Amino acid sequence: MIRARSLMIAVVAAAAPGLAVAQARPFPGSDVEQIYQRLLPQIEKIPMFDHHAHPGFADDPDVDAMAAPPGSASLRQRDTNPELVAAARALWGYPYNDLSAEHTQWLVEKKAEVKKQRGNQYFSDILDKLNIEQGVANRAMMADYLDPKRFVWVFFADSFMWPFDNQRQAARNADEQVYIPLQEKMLHRWMAQEGLGKLPPNFSDYLTFVSRTLEDNQEKGAIAQKFEVAYFRPTRFSDPTREQAEDIYQRFVGGGIPSEAEYRTFQDFLFRYLVREGGRLHLPVHIHSAVGIGDYFNLSESNILNLENVLRDPRYANTTFVMIHGGYPYDRQSIWLAAVKNVYLDTSETEILLYPSEFKKLLKQWLETFPDKITFGTDCFPYNQALGAEESYWLGVESSRTALAAALAEMISEKEVSEAQALALAHGYLHDNAVGIYQGKVH
Ligand SMILES: [Zn+2]
Repeated sequence: MIRARSLMIAVVAAAAPGLAVAQARPFPGSDVEQIYQRLLPQIEKIPMFDHHAHPGFADDPDVDAMAAPPGSASLRQRDTNPELVAAARALWGYPYNDLSAEHTQWLVEKKAEVKKQRGNQYFSDILDKLNIEQGVANRAMMADYLDPKRFVWVFFADSFMWPFDNQRQAARNADEQVYIPLQEKMLHRWMAQEGLGKLPPNFSDYLTFVSRTLEDNQEKGAIAQKFEVAYFRPTRFSDPTREQAEDIYQRFVGGGIPSEAEYRTFQDFLFRYLVREGGRLHLPVHIHSAVGIGDYFNLSESNILNLENVLRDPRYANTTFVMIHGGYPYDRQSIWLAAVKNVYLDTSETEILLYPSEFKKLLKQWLETFPDKITFGTDCFPYNQALGAEESYWLGVESSRTALAAALAEMISEKEVSEAQALALAHGYLHDNAVGIYQGKVH
C-alpha cells in the first residue's frame, strides 16, 4: 500500500509540463498535422546515409550486376507517374508540366550539359541537393565518375555460386536467360582480377580465390558484399558438409551439367562460406530480401523468413546482415528478425513501390518495434533517360522523409514517444543506425 502510494507520487512528480504520462492511445489527436509540419523541416536538415542505391548513368553497364528484363512496373514506377515532373522541376528547374517526348528531350539535354560542366562532381551535386552525406554504390564495379569520398562500394558476391555449366539454370525461363550470363561474366571478371585464366582444379584453391577476391575488394574500398540470390533460386539454404561441396566441385569444374539438387547443395555450402567470411573480414552481408522485378521472380520461394535459419545461426554471430528492402511485402514478419543483434533491415525500394501514405504504416510499425535496427536507402537506379538515378534519388528521399515525419507525428500524438525521442529515432533511421555498422569506414 505504502509502496503503491510512493510510486504514484513519483509518477506525478515526473509529470513535468508538456511531458506525456498518459497511456498510449489508439488514435492520433487533432494536433497530428501540426506536429508533422513541425517535424518535417527538422527531418530535412538531418544529413543522411543512403544504405542501398545504384548510382550511375543509364548507359553504364556496371551500374548493376544484372539487367532488368521487361517486367510489369507497378503504378508508381511507370513513366506516367506525375511525381516525376516534380522531381525534374526540383532537380533541374524543368519548365514543363508533363513528360511528353518533346519535353523529355529538354531534360535529356539539360542533364548532358550539367554532366559536361560538372564531370565527376555530377552525382555528388545530386547528393548535396538532397542532403545525402554519403551513399552506397551497389555496383558491379565502381565508376571513375563517382567521388569515392561520397560513394562507398558494395560489390556483388553471387557469381561465386555459379561456376559450372549453367545451361539448365539459364533454360528455366526468359529472365534467367538474361541473368545467368551476367553472373558468368561477373565471375570471369573476379577471375581476371585475381589473375586466374581458368577455375582452379581443386576446391580448396577455389575457396582461396573466393576469399582473396573479398579481401581485394575490401582493399579497394568495398564496405559490404551483396547477394541478389533470390532472383535465381529459393533462399532457403541447407547445411551441407565441405566434403559434399568438394565432391560436386571436383566432378563438374571440368565440365558437365550438375543436377538441380547437386548445384543447390554446392551453392548452399558456398553461401554459408561467404557469410562466414563476412564475419572474419568484418564485411557485412547485404541480401536482397523483397519482391523483385521480372515475370518469374518467385515471391514465396524468396520469402525473407526462408533465411531465418541462417540469420539465427550462432555460428554467424560475427557476421552483420542487412536485409535489403526489408523483406517487403513480408515486412510485418521481417521486423522480428531484427531482434537478432547482428541483423538490420533497410527500407530501400519499398519507399518507391509504396506511396508515402502506405510506407508511413510500414515505417511506424518498424519504429515501434526495433527502431535502432532499421536503415534508410533509396535504391536509386537509372531506369531510363527521364527517370534516371537522379530522379529516383529524389523520389526515394522525399518519400522517406514525408513518411517518416508522418509516422513520428502519429507516434507523438498517440503518446508513444516524446518529440525529442522521435527526432532521435529519425537520426537513427536516416543516418546513425547504418553508419554504426561500418566501424569508422563511413560517416
Ligand atoms: Zn537495389
